Amino acid sequence: MLEIKNLHVDLEDEEKTILKGVDLTVETGKVHAIMGPNGSGKSTLSYVLSGRDGYEVTEGSATLDGEDILDMEPEERAAAGLFLAFQYPVEIPGVGNMTFMRTALNAQRKAKGQEEMSAADFLKLVREKAKALQIDSDMLKRPVNVGFSGGEKKRNEILQMALLEPKMCILDETDSGLDVDAMKLVADGVNALRQEGRGFLVITHYQRLLDHIKPDVVHIMANGRIVKTGGPELALEVEKNGYADLVEEVA
Ligand code: ADP
Ligand code: MG
Ligand code: MG
Repeated sequence: MLEIKNLHVDLEDEEKTILKGVDLTVETGKVHAIMGPNGSGKSTLSYVLSGRDGYEVTEGSATLDGEDILDMEPEERAAAGLFLAFQYPVEIPGVGNMTFMRTALNAQRKAKGQEEMSAADFLKLVREKAKALQIDSDMLKRPVNVGFSGGEKKRNEILQMALLEPKMCILDETDSGLDVDAMKLVADGVNALRQEGRGFLVITHYQRLLDHIKPDVVHIMANGRIVKTGGPELALEVEKNGYADLVEEVA
């Protein structure tokens, strides 16, 4: 389980506090969603959990199954079972997708003290996973993300997730560029990989994605804090009435 307690985060370069005491527990096997207005700190939360530079944790903690993740290097976080969907969104010309994914898997295995997986074994595994997710394995022969459509990038992301078998998946579906088809892909991927022993934190600005994913718990974030928590009906309430009422209610 992912446990975030009283998390306060400042920008390193500016005197600006972005997260002002986030409390959030995602139990294993559950799908939690975070919604909230633009600029409320949703992406900052996922960046901090991924270990991105530029942020300073001034107070609070984040643990995965009791292990302090904020103290870990990004690859240690992956080995501990954390997966962040935007971790590899970059285009890497000249590096084959297959090689890239095998490198990511082997980095994780190494950090866990396991042996490297051979190219042949990896090929077998990746074909199995791709087949189960109905992903065309032709994509694996191309350079990482180069010329991929939005939908292909999403498929690739879901395949990476399936390969790394994380305990906790965090998806920041940033508001732009996710059309209905891509949204459906993400939702199908999450639903296919939903299982006991794996939790999801799905961050989204729009309720539409949650039509397909059906989260167990919905949180609303505003001004650097979780201001309301409820069931899936909370997402529908937001869709109908917007954030203003909720945020005002809290203020
Ligand atoms: P959300 O994902 O909810 O839209 P963000 O986490 O992207 O919100 O941003 C929260 C606030 O922090 C915004 O006011 C944003 O402008 C600010 N912010 C985040 N990262 C930076 C940065 N690197 N430099 C300047 N401001 C930032
Ligand atoms: Mg934003
Ligand atoms: Mg964002």
